[in-house]
Amino acid sequence: MKRGYVLSERISGSAVKFSYAEPEFFIKEKREKGIVIMDLRGLYKFTLVDYPGHIACIVFTGGCNFRCPYCHNAALVLDPRSQPRVTETEFFNFLKSRKGLLEGVVVSGGEPTIQPDLADFCRRIREEGYLLKLDTNSSNPEVVYKIHRDCGINALGVDFKAPSRRYSELVGNPSPDLGRNVHEMIRFGQLENIELDIRTTVHKSLLSFSDLEEMHAELAVLGSPVWTLQQFNPVEVIEEALPGIATYEDSDLIGMARKLGPEVRVRGLTGRFLL
Ligand code: SF4
Repeated sequence: MKRGYVLSERISGSAVKFSYAEPEFFIKEKREKGIVIMDLRGLYKFTLVDYPGHIACIVFTGGCNFRCPYCHNAALVLDPRSQPRVTETEFFNFLKSRKGLLEGVVVSGGEPTIQPDLADFCRRIREEGYLLKLDTNSSNPEVVYKIHRDCGINALGVDFKAPSRRYSELVGNPSPDLGRNVHEMIRFGQLENIELDIRTTVHKSLLSFSDLEEMHAELAVLGSPVWTLQQFNPVEVIEEALPGIATYEDSDLIGMARKLGPEVRVRGLTGRFLL
């Protein structure tokens, strides 16, 4: 797996290459066997953090259509086949064994909405009696709307990554609709009374305070929902030079959140902070 190429290619203006999660293979296999197949590449059996207020597990899907430089799921995004696959049978057997112990399932990634069978997968989770939280980069809003119509999404984790004018630049995807899509996803969650977890990972070399002010103004148009600034996690990330570049101190992040407004929180310092 080659890491660190995305930011360089974006700077040089070259096209960004995407490696999706074997959709043709899975679609073919599904058609042949008449069953739902997802590209699942990880399962955390217990979390109290990722679905606030609920005891949940997290299942990770392989592949993503973005290339965020700070993404700490680099292998899952760039080379999902390098990660051990969890079969659907294993996953649903696990869910059956945890009934009464877990309340919810977080479907995360990667980007779950690029999975062709996501809607069926989510419906099965709901049929097992679990609450459903879907984490998404909002690039495929119609997929999310359909799932909600089909089976009811209880919570949405919405990555709000940049001011609209810088969205494509910062996520390595040329679509011009990305900023608008995020706004629409937030509006959708509000109208449907879906619990929202709107979050932004902040690295000094990528987002200035002025960018954050611009994002705050965009959220103000949507009624100033609760917004969480996430501290950069200096692990192995997509842009491998990033951990070596100076970023905000925890105290900087807290200070910026305070300046922005009372609905702005900070996460990922030494725990979970409500300001
Ligand atoms: S941070 Fe999320 S949207 Fe960005 S590349 Fe990683 S998985 Fe994809």
